[in-house]
Amino acid sequence: MKIVVQKYGGTSVSTPEKREMVVRRVAEARENGYQVAVVVSAMGRNGDPYSTDTLKSLVLQEHNDVSLRELDLIMSCGEIISATIVAATLVKKGIISRALTGSQAGLLTDGCYGEAEVVDCRPEKVKESLAKGEVPVIAGFQGTDSKGEVNTLGRGGSDTTAVILGAALKAEKVEIYTDVAGIMTADPVLLKEARIIEQITYGEVCQLAYEGAKVIHPRAVEVAMRNNIAVVVRNPDDSSRGTLITGESSLLQGSYSTRGRRAVTAIAHAVNLVQFLIEFKDTDPWKELEIFQRIGEADVNIDMISVFPSVKAFTVKEEDSGRVEDIIRKLGLTYRLEKNCAKVSVVGVGMHSIPGVMARVVKALNEDNIKILQSGDSNITISLLIKEDDLYRAVKVLHGTFNL
Ligand code: ADP
Ligand code: MG
Repeated sequence: MKIVVQKYGGTSVSTPEKREMVVRRVAEARENGYQVAVVVSAMGRNGDPYSTDTLKSLVLQEHNDVSLRELDLIMSCGEIISATIVAATLVKKGIISRALTGSQAGLLTDGCYGEAEVVDCRPEKVKESLAKGEVPVIAGFQGTDSKGEVNTLGRGGSDTTAVILGAALKAEKVEIYTDVAGIMTADPVLLKEARIIEQITYGEVCQLAYEGAKVIHPRAVEVAMRNNIAVVVRNPDDSSRGTLITGESSLLQGSYSTRGRRAVTAIAHAVNLVQFLIEFKDTDPWKELEIFQRIGEADVNIDMISVFPSVKAFTVKEEDSGRVEDIIRKLGLTYRLEKNCAKVSVVGVGMHSIPGVMARVVKALNEDNIKILQSGDSNITISLLIKEDDLYRAVKVLHGTFNL
């Protein structure tokens, strides 16, 4: 029998009405001949009683020195609560169901508290449950390591749980239900004219996610790509629409040429960035290595890195900028900071075979008087660092320029 894994995000399980919609989507898939395994996130968003952030602050308020082990234990509870409630809702509606923790669902993690990776998945209990005709409801975002300790998978981790289970169960597809209608041409919260993308490649979604579009976790997309599992992103209230994420081949089926392909598929953005510009003189070239080494040792991620003989430029998240300043000061280097920066990234598999994409980006931003502070690129992405105040206008003008 064909299997589908359905993952429901926090808002999709937050109220009794929303959970009714979950039941409807599960029933519908069963009517269409699927065995259904459900993965859930913690209910609601920050501030809601059982959200991950609320549970975390519950302990941190009084005990800010709590160990990472205990923090992971409490953070894993939100999904367990959610799984129990969703399973009970299904039972009430006549669908036999059982709730399972990540550990019971066989997700084995690497022991890295707060940011664990899944190293193996042996979903025996999930298979048993499916074989009995039940709907197993699995707590996302968690697993246990080889010592039996609970680990959480980091923000967006339930997406990864769903795709890994999909691969382990040899599911036909994984459906990610969220609070937007699919993967859109830009974040719909920022740009209301953003449109749903009907079909997109794994590579593009991964890149969008890395560049700040949190609609799906990049690790989940990587797992889907490696296992060639189709992923659908949609809204539980509007399941007739949505986005299909697949390999490039299905997009280009029957096509021999790249002409007519879209250069840009979507735009992602990230905020709260600080740009560092460090001056270098002939007398201190040895500090080049030292600076990057020290930043690495401080566990700070740097981005948009440009190295020239006389200047080194990069960005960091605002929360890390103080630590980086300390490092640079200790090395006695002269530097300049540009605070309140944002990064806009245009992403598209078509762009590497279509000339002139950068020219169109620059023209659009210039005409709108948006200053480009720095740029970076990969084969399917061009990123521009700009001031946060210009972000909305930049996304809007680029969205128009590439006819998204
Ligand atoms: P969930 O709780 O269901 O996992 P998330 O909040 O993690 O939901 O992801 C959905 C959010 O992703 C949307 O509310 C939207 O603001 C944001 N988002 C950012 N970029 C995009 C995009 N390109 N398409 C759709 N949503 C996006
Ligand atoms: Mg999410």
